[in-house]
Amino acid sequence: MSAQHAHLSPEQRELLTRCEELARDVFEPMVRAGEAGHVNRRLNAALGEHGLLARALRHGGDIAAVDLCVIREGLARHSPESETAFAVQCLGSHPLLVAGHAATRDEWLPRLADGTAVAAFALTEPGGGSDVASLGLRAEPDGDGFRLTGEKAFISNAPEADIYAVFARTTEGAGARGITCFAVPAASGGLSGETTPLVSGHPIGRLTFDGVHATREQMVGEQDRGFGVAMRTLDLFRPSVGAFAVGMAQAALDAAVHHAATRTAFGHPLSAFQGVTHQLADVATRVQAARLLVHAAAAAYDAREPGTTRASAMAKLFATEAATDAIDVAIQVHGARALERGHMLERLYREVRGTRIYEGASEVQREIVARELFRDLPPA
Ligand SMILES: Cc1cc2nc3c(=O)[nH]c(=O)nc-3n(C[C@H](O)[C@H](O)[C@H](O)COP(=O)(O)OP(=O)(O)OC[C@H]3O[C@@H](n4cnc5c(N)ncnc54)[C@H](O)[C@@H]3O)c2cc1C
Repeated sequence: MSAQHAHLSPEQRELLTRCEELARDVFEPMVRAGEAGHVNRRLNAALGEHGLLARALRHGGDIAAVDLCVIREGLARHSPESETAFAVQCLGSHPLLVAGHAATRDEWLPRLADGTAVAAFALTEPGGGSDVASLGLRAEPDGDGFRLTGEKAFISNAPEADIYAVFARTTEGAGARGITCFAVPAASGGLSGETTPLVSGHPIGRLTFDGVHATREQMVGEQDRGFGVAMRTLDLFRPSVGAFAVGMAQAALDAAVHHAATRTAFGHPLSAFQGVTHQLADVATRVQAARLLVHAAAAAYDAREPGTTRASAMAKLFATEAATDAIDVAIQVHGARALERGHMLERLYREVRGTRIYEGASEVQREIVARELFRDLPPA
């Protein structure tokens, strides 16, 4: 294990190595045998069989954010698509885990933890994703429950998931204070959807709710408190998006270093050209800075330190932008071969792009950091 992870405990370093090996030897062959853009149930079951999902979905509380980051970096380094399958399953299950009714938890969590059922987190709507407090899918009272009407868009694992954590408007005009989360099984009457093909192989789609019935037991947390449920999940996951980016960036850097050492041009290996090696030195520095920011934000979250919002926003912002840059440089160093369809860098180039948009776009993260910088200043 290199000095890059010297700040981690021996257990965390062991977890990282295990995830890297599983990703390379077990999960990546399953990704290659699956169909891009669709849920890979064999892969999800393998994530369950090897205990990774159960580790994240332990009854009684959150996985440590640092452990979540370690798993995500390790998987991303050798198999970004299996990392995504792991992360989306955990994201969709987390609201049920921490706020679901006992009956919902008993019915769904064992199958989500062993990977035989698939979860999704349904927050974004066609009208927008950044401004969560303005979401409009309606949940109107109906007998002893609710009827859900409206649409969700860009929901990872939709429409192929088995259970959706759906955020709906229960009180008009109340902004963030009028949203409720529901656990909605895919088999519910009135629920339909379609796949949305993306630039990457990410399984994602749109959902239509046409008067879908949900009982009060299907509420995840209290009525009108769903915004808090969404934020609790996103606060845990935000630094770990940075860890996903770090894993991909490290893979790109490793490939670029190997290529620069072995490819000859003008009678020399590429590594003899300072124009190449200094670019890689900058990438290596930024990737390590990103890793440390991510782990510091996750550790602060685990310790319930004040200021974790700013630390998480910085980590996600910096890591996703550093990874985009790292993959771009690695492609430049490889030349044309990296753009061949199916090359690992071509896949990373498509995969990394979404990380600067989902779970808070880079501009939203900058907005959070800026707001925090000025928060405690007296008015001028
Ligand atoms: C690969 C992928 C997977 C996803 N998975 C899920 C999922 O599982 N569940 C889910 O609910 N959603 C998911 N999403 C949706 C994602 O969360 C939204 O795309 C995201 O929240 C942004 O919303 P939007 O696309 O509607 O853009 P908008 O909200 O319309 O924003 C467009 C752009 O405007 C800018 N902007 C917005 N607000 C501000 C601001 N305050 N200041 C400055 N600039 C701003 C940003 O550049 C932003 O990218 C996924 C998206 C992708 C790409």
